Amino acid sequence: MRLETVDFCNVRVLASILTLALLTLPPISGQEELRPTVILISFDGWRWDYDTKAPAPNLRSLVARGVRARNLVPSFPSKTFPNHYSIVTGLYPGHHGIVANNIKDPATGRTFAMTKREEVGAPMWWGGEPIWVAIERAGQSSGAMFWVGSEAPIAGVHPRFWKPYDEDVPGAERVDQVLQWLDLPSAGRPTFLTLYFEDPDTAGHDEGPDSQAVREAIMRADGYLGRLLRGLEQRTLLDEVNIIVVSDHGMSPVSLDRVVVIDDYISLDDVEIVDINPTLGIFPRAGREEAVYRALADAHSRLSVYRREATPERWHYRDHPRIPPIVGVADEGWQVLRRRTLADMRAGRTRAARGQHGYDPLVMAMRGVFVAAGPAFKRGVTVAPFENVSIYDAMTAILGVTAASNDGDPAVARSLLR
Ligand SMILES: [Zn+2]
Repeated sequence: MRLETVDFCNVRVLASILTLALLTLPPISGQEELRPTVILISFDGWRWDYDTKAPAPNLRSLVARGVRARNLVPSFPSKTFPNHYSIVTGLYPGHHGIVANNIKDPATGRTFAMTKREEVGAPMWWGGEPIWVAIERAGQSSGAMFWVGSEAPIAGVHPRFWKPYDEDVPGAERVDQVLQWLDLPSAGRPTFLTLYFEDPDTAGHDEGPDSQAVREAIMRADGYLGRLLRGLEQRTLLDEVNIIVVSDHGMSPVSLDRVVVIDDYISLDDVEIVDINPTLGIFPRAGREEAVYRALADAHSRLSVYRREATPERWHYRDHPRIPPIVGVADEGWQVLRRRTLADMRAGRTRAARGQHGYDPLVMAMRGVFVAAGPAFKRGVTVAPFENVSIYDAMTAILGVTAASNDGDPAVARSLLR
């Protein structure tokens, strides 16, 4: 009897110790209620076939438990800013207004470049509605560890958490920041998070897509993904969140043996060249429109030149006033340069790229990657190539927020989601 009482007391003591221990332990986020969550990851310039060029075990593990597209079709032009913004708005560049990496706005005379921090943060450039606007308005929260457009208050809204782009922030730190955001109490925890890694693009431009530098960049990028997957696993979140890996475009090898020299055909005094290589965006001086177009239209068999209103229909690149009156693009593997730039490159004063992108989205080497896994996605499925404007619909469906009107094909979301 006496012994039993003692035992009873011990059980009570043990129970209070356990209760205390549980109260003082930090909450494990996986055990709290987790709303449907999407982590969108961009490997800039990751060509669709890069996982065959170097080991990418972490991407392959996502493929094994998710859905992959044979390749992802970029929007024209297959450049970084237009495509990252198409992915989060569901709009073609000809509709959202980031019509190139280098833009002139005829209405204001202002010019946009990726390196102009003031312009990158100015809302006037960013048309359409990036997904984080709908998310924030729905009372959810979002966190961008770098994404094109996140640095501007678009419709007055930034992601709840965002960082000015800084290429010196190590990849591991970017991953850890996203994990920290996921560790927030459920009320403020983002349901939409982004990660961005420039490595594959930088290596592709510098050394070409078939280089050792690209193989190393592939392994590095895959390593960042691995760090994220391990962090999610530790939090028992790996099977709870939806992960989407994308790229904005691919990469083609180029050389100085395949160059169209623009001033061989027109006088640079007749034009303002807003965008060049391998695309061309030209505003002719007043009165020189017809002469410049005619001189360029038949200039070189490797250069296609269009008036804005006659660009290929599949580009959806006619409507926006920022699309220059004359638009051109070189054939795959060719570049368009000013004579002076070419001379600087030949003399080694300017570094000559060994890889380039921007070509027609029909070019296979411009195709990017799409892999997605998580509770919302089908498992073990490979789907046909689709355009990157269709990702937006799938993401809004997962998050349960109202999609803005967009250019995506709703059938794509149905083919990806359970
Ligand atoms: Zn890019």
